[in-house]
Amino acid sequence: MVHRLIMAYNDYDLLIIGGGMVGASLACALAGLDLHIGLVEAELFTANNTHPSYDDRTVALAQGTKRIFQTLGLWEMLESTSTPIQKIHISERGCPGLAHIDCCDEGVDALGYVVEARLIGAALLGKLLSSRGVEVLCPAYLEKIPIEENSARAIISFNDNRIVELRARLIVAADGACSRVRKQLGITALRWEYEQQAVIANVTSTIPHCNTAYERFTEEGPVAFLPMSGHRCAVVYTVNNKELPQVLSLDDSGFSTLLSGRFGDRLGAFSRIGQRQAYPLFLLKALEHTHRRIAIIGNAAHTLHPIAGQGLNLSIRDIAALAEVIADAWRNNQDIGGTEVLEYYAEWRRWDQIKTIACTDILTRLFVNPLPPVHIARTLGLLAFDFFPPIKSLIARQFMGLDGRLTKLARGIPLTD
Ligand SMILES: Cc1cc2nc3c(=O)[nH]c(=O)nc-3n(C[C@H](O)[C@H](O)[C@H](O)COP(=O)(O)OP(=O)(O)OC[C@H]3O[C@@H](n4cnc5c(N)ncnc54)[C@H](O)[C@@H]3O)c2cc1C
Repeated sequence: MVHRLIMAYNDYDLLIIGGGMVGASLACALAGLDLHIGLVEAELFTANNTHPSYDDRTVALAQGTKRIFQTLGLWEMLESTSTPIQKIHISERGCPGLAHIDCCDEGVDALGYVVEARLIGAALLGKLLSSRGVEVLCPAYLEKIPIEENSARAIISFNDNRIVELRARLIVAADGACSRVRKQLGITALRWEYEQQAVIANVTSTIPHCNTAYERFTEEGPVAFLPMSGHRCAVVYTVNNKELPQVLSLDDSGFSTLLSGRFGDRLGAFSRIGQRQAYPLFLLKALEHTHRRIAIIGNAAHTLHPIAGQGLNLSIRDIAALAEVIADAWRNNQDIGGTEVLEYYAEWRRWDQIKTIACTDILTRLFVNPLPPVHIARTLGLLAFDFFPPIKSLIARQFMGLDGRLTKLARGIPLTD
């Protein structure tokens, strides 16, 4: 795969640090606007399993994210390999409560779509390489962000030992949960460990999934099955840190038995169990998402438990809003890194971020609590959720990313118009 290593300029309008799914999406959203954009990414975009963003994971893209990707011209590259989620089935082991969400009730063709992360990477890179105004600096590593009153600077190293200073009106940090930018700026990030890991694998079921995503909660942790092509499903199995080595050492038939023990037999027996991979689970929230000439987005700003499949979707809504605010400021000859512009973005996104983070965290903690009153409340809660369509619709629209003030990109309006 080709990567642009040419560096024509040292001065940019916008410099994005981190070309993972979030940083690269922001660059795509702003490409073609006559802004001069630099995207600094440490790892080659090459599709393999070691890339921090574009690995073998599958992600559920919400309906709202699909609409944003559609406006950006990315969806046409992903559609043929995506699997629609038409229903979501939520249950708890040993509990009579059940809940269903159906796309027909919500008036959409699908609640979301399952796509492989490395295919999202390929689509983003393809788009960037054919876009005007975006220079991809890769592999290139952000070393330092010297903080100054009126300018944003970044010291970047290349793997031929060159060290270069780049300047920009605005620097956006999309450099992941361990964000170097965030740390160098001294921005506090609150972090709560769930003491669990998500083990992912692709499996084939004997009973067809019928485009249903299953979410099953147990006291040991949740397990989710996302529909993929054929009879395949992408599994996210949560396991306590202490049990991880044992789970990873299981052979295919042992892992299949473990899955059935937690999930039951709704999808029949599991065969063709793919490679397992583990990800530590924690909730991270940066206390500030903007700073002088700096915006922090993606996992660098908020990292969520993957149980509700919301981390990337929330960040794509963030980048759609940030891109819109930058585009408007640019057109009006405003300073795109100015405090007013950044504060407007932060304020716009605050409420959706609070709701999404809180819902995901409450869901995660509520369903592992073994106390009998909590157990009863959960059963009643699931039943109430299923019996009251207005509540269900409200929550479904929030998780689909269709609630609240929608961005232009989510409404199908390109920022270049
Ligand atoms: C098991 C699992 C399943 C998930 N499923 C879903 C799902 O179904 N739906 C959903 O919405 N979300 C899901 N998520 C969350 C989603 O994966 C994240 O929200 C998303 O990957 C965040 O992307 P990012 O670009 O912010 O960060 P990252 O993916 O961490 O990317 C950061 C990038 O910055 C680069 N970088 C880091 N430091 C530097 C530096 N100093 N200089 C230059 N570059 C640097 C890295 O190389 C990397 O490419 C899941 C997460 C997990 C773990």
